[in-house]
Amino acid sequence: MRTLASLGDLSGRTVIVRCDLNVPMKNGLITDDGRIRASLASIRKLHAAGAKVVLISHLGRPEGRPDAQFSLEQVARRLSELLDEPVTFATDTVGVSAHTAVQAISSGQTRTVLLENLRFNPGETSKDSATRREFASELATFADAYVSDGFGVVHRRQASVTELAELLPSAAGLLVESELGVLTRLTSNPARPYTVALGGSKVSDKLGVIDHLLSRVDTILIGGGMLFTFLAARGYSVGASLLEEDQIGTCLEYLNRASELGVEIALPTDVIVAERFAADAAHEIVEASKIEESRFGSDAIGLDIGPATASRYAEIIRSSQTVFWNGPMGVFEFEEFSAGTRAVAQALTEVDGLAVVGGGDSAAAVRLLGFEDDQFGHISTGGGASLEFLEGKSLPGLEVLGWQ
Ligand code: ADP
Ligand code: MG
Repeated sequence: MRTLASLGDLSGRTVIVRCDLNVPMKNGLITDDGRIRASLASIRKLHAAGAKVVLISHLGRPEGRPDAQFSLEQVARRLSELLDEPVTFATDTVGVSAHTAVQAISSGQTRTVLLENLRFNPGETSKDSATRREFASELATFADAYVSDGFGVVHRRQASVTELAELLPSAAGLLVESELGVLTRLTSNPARPYTVALGGSKVSDKLGVIDHLLSRVDTILIGGGMLFTFLAARGYSVGASLLEEDQIGTCLEYLNRASELGVEIALPTDVIVAERFAADAAHEIVEASKIEESRFGSDAIGLDIGPATASRYAEIIRSSQTVFWNGPMGVFEFEEFSAGTRAVAQALTEVDGLAVVGGGDSAAAVRLLGFEDDQFGHISTGGGASLEFLEGKSLPGLEVLGWQ
């Protein structure tokens, strides 16, 4: 894969850098700036090489037209604080404001520009390659070279990820390089025991990774909303908990395959069920096989793994040499249902070998629960991208950079 060095002497040249600055926002404020911080290394390195940078990113899912709630303006402000220098913000992607900002770079008034949300332009995510290429061509006029550093989007075939990389001399940035370095350690010869902990909301998002990793790991710990589809596959009733009925068969097949392979798919033995989906809902601990025997009957909603399960999972994690964790164990956003996620996160910080956290919500969870990034071996900035990488899929945004 081509890295920054392949771009040669960048002194005085302009480089367009695809970052993933898709940070969580609440009431117009950034709630977790982890992705902005993760983008700094490449920007600083390019500045040090004498380059000027035009930063591009998406934020949220606007529908191909300007939408103020998805503006990157706050991100520009935060970037400027973190870089401790002005960042010129363009209020459009390829319009008058963007052209003016890029001119300010040429005339030496600034060395850092952030363009507005790429997804305000329908060309960015268009299914039609000619439309994507047209948008990418406009972006390409702003720079002499392209750096791909938005690890969270390298699994996407989008104008700023794939087409733009083909139009300019292109290379992977430092974030993409370091993410791949760590994820490769999870796929080639991982130290054993190797444990994967999976949670989050949808089982269907995680089936690919279970399928691919089943024969490569020692233990898969199941938590989060997806655990209920597994419990259903075991034949238990799950009340009003999240359930993907169409996936029960697949979960059962995985359970059977695991026992043939001698791999453990660990399911909770106890769960915390609530009367309704709310932070202050009445709740109790029940055996995983008896969810509907709680006082909420068939209305019971499982919102976290129980304490016995949490300590069993924590023990398995602590005694592993390699751990990958994706997906919160419960609805950690509600304090009362965050204990399972906290226990798993805590255990990851105590692993002797390599402990990797992947997934946007999982990364946000560990920070919300008060952990520091450096307590973990690695916190991946890309949820979907890291899962697809671990599924063994080829990622279009890496292929264009020469990755095989
Ligand atoms: P990531 O972004 O780390 O990949 P996901 O997006 O798959 O994680 O899932 C995160 C979400 O899963 C969180 O918002 C959390 O509230 C939710 N979740 C976890 N456990 C449950 C549960 N038992 N019921 C419903 N939602 C859950
Ligand atoms: Mg998520």
